Amino acid sequence: MHHLTPEQIAELREDLLRMRNRLIKQAEEQIRDPSDVTFQGGDEIDRANIETGRYINLQRIRTRELKLLRKIDYALMKMENETYGICEGCGVFIPFERLKARPVTTMCINCKELEEEGENE
Ligand SMILES: [Zn+2]
Repeated sequence: MHHLTPEQIAELREDLLRMRNRLIKQAEEQIRDPSDVTFQGGDEIDRANIETGRYINLQRIRTRELKLLRKIDYALMKMENETYGICEGCGVFIPFERLKARPVTTMCINCKELEEEGENE
């Protein structure tokens, strides 16, 4: 039994797909526009992070955006195998309100705070 209703899952999937489309669209526009100089600094780009053919056409995408794309894909994958919305830290159900605010989240608030305490990013 899942704590989310099929309607809530459908709504969150819509949100994730919308985020995904927007990110890809942004990336494609940046690739198409050679006058975009924000990529020439190189600080934000980590080409080593881009290893799969899946995003080969998006190889100029910024690392931050690529990370978010991966989180979105991961969340969608978890919806497929029905583990979406279950905290990866402690196994509790993550409330719909939290998922609605941040659909890519994989942890409850408590676990997230613990993780962030040990994180320097
Ligand atoms: Zn947790």
